[in-house]
Amino acid sequence: MQTRFDVAVIGAGPSGAVAAALLNKQGFSVCVLEKQHFPRFVIGESLLPYCMVMLEEAGFAETVRAEPSFQLKNGAAFTWGSRYTYFDFTDKFSDGPGTTFQVRRGIFDKILIDEAAKQGVEVRFGHGVTAFDNSGDTALLSVETDGGESYTLEADFVLDASGYGRVLPRLLDLETPSSLPPRVAHFTHIDDHITGDKFDRNKILITTHPTHRDVWLWTIPFGDGRSSIGVVGTPDKLAGDSETVLKKFALECPMLAEVLADAQWDNDFPYRSIQGYSANVKTLHGKHFALLGNAAEFLDPVFSSGVTIALHSAKLAAEVLGRQLKGQAADWQAEFAEPLMQGVDTFRTYVNGWYDLSFQNAIYAPNRSPEISRMISSILAGYAWDTANPFVEKHAQRLAALAALVGPLRLV
Ligand code: FAD
Repeated sequence: MQTRFDVAVIGAGPSGAVAAALLNKQGFSVCVLEKQHFPRFVIGESLLPYCMVMLEEAGFAETVRAEPSFQLKNGAAFTWGSRYTYFDFTDKFSDGPGTTFQVRRGIFDKILIDEAAKQGVEVRFGHGVTAFDNSGDTALLSVETDGGESYTLEADFVLDASGYGRVLPRLLDLETPSSLPPRVAHFTHIDDHITGDKFDRNKILITTHPTHRDVWLWTIPFGDGRSSIGVVGTPDKLAGDSETVLKKFALECPMLAEVLADAQWDNDFPYRSIQGYSANVKTLHGKHFALLGNAAEFLDPVFSSGVTIALHSAKLAAEVLGRQLKGQAADWQAEFAEPLMQGVDTFRTYVNGWYDLSFQNAIYAPNRSPEISRMISSILAGYAWDTANPFVEKHAQRLAALAALVGPLRLV
């Protein structure tokens, strides 16, 4: 078994698969070490159109488009009481794809990493990383297989794409608390039996709870008559078992209760919950390593930005690392961390504005200006790095001005 590579990637999720493929295309030897066997479940089923740019570059888009269980997605709809509004991602400020997919991550992640393997990336399932040594001229990873073997893998550089595993942040003591308060999500998959024209399967539906406006639900339809449904809120409001809490909150929301009237809450998919998922780190890079996707910072699921940020981090890292491995100048802070954080900080402003209601009110306000709608649509479609968009470039000021214009909203 080969134990020396140019690049080692920890984790075979979307960020690991895209980074590995992009580096392999540049001619470097890449080994992906994945603790689990695929397909495996991970949450995060609604993509944003900007993802398609990175999937295209990595050579994955065609296979993704061909998977019949994926549901075309062209926007995001929002409902609160009797209010209903939506953003059409094909009508947006930024250039780039306006559609994407809602996916079962088990299938999606397997497609990506299988494609990377076909392109020449070495992928090792059942190989977990347990230690990291960057004291020498190269990086050394301790690997344990689920067959009980151990070995050391040497690489010039390590990309940590271990998601919620947060391997290097834990091993190197890089973790810092998130600025966002802890929240919990309870979720499942259902046979949705949604009929009629009230529900647009081409859009994620985000529902604000009528009275607890910091509690919201996602409805993410798949292409086969099933949907993912989940509720998010602070642990005090969402205490209890996942099934009871999820059903209670869903049925308290008028549009959702109507849309899900015939749904079968079956047991084909277990009720699950995840909490304390918002996370941050002291640094995104260091000697012989950089952090990708959820192994770095994770904000909040409300705008489905997780996979998009993960893929953008993979693209930036592959560019900087490619230059470094070719012996050219590479500045990880200026060329990776700062450009990545520009988009993350944009999302952060709108996530905070969702929970402090400034952005939520702007979303639900009647008579939105078409021009502003197109700029917001761009951000919700994932184009949070397009600084030509004033709502990206001056995100905090623009949101504050918009909130002042809209003012508070009441339930109608
Ligand atoms: P992951 O997809 O988590 O992959 C990491 C991989 O690393 C795993 O396969 C794991 O087994 C492996 N690994 C871990 N430890 C080790 C180890 N020691 N050695 C080797 N391998 C290891 N995002 C969206 O884009 N859309 C959504 O709709 C959305 N909804 C969400 C809802 C909730 C409630 C939450 C909490 C998050 C949501 N997200 C969503 C975010 C999404 O889950 C993540 O952003 C995304 O999965 C990040 O991908 P990744 O490539 O960084 O890591």
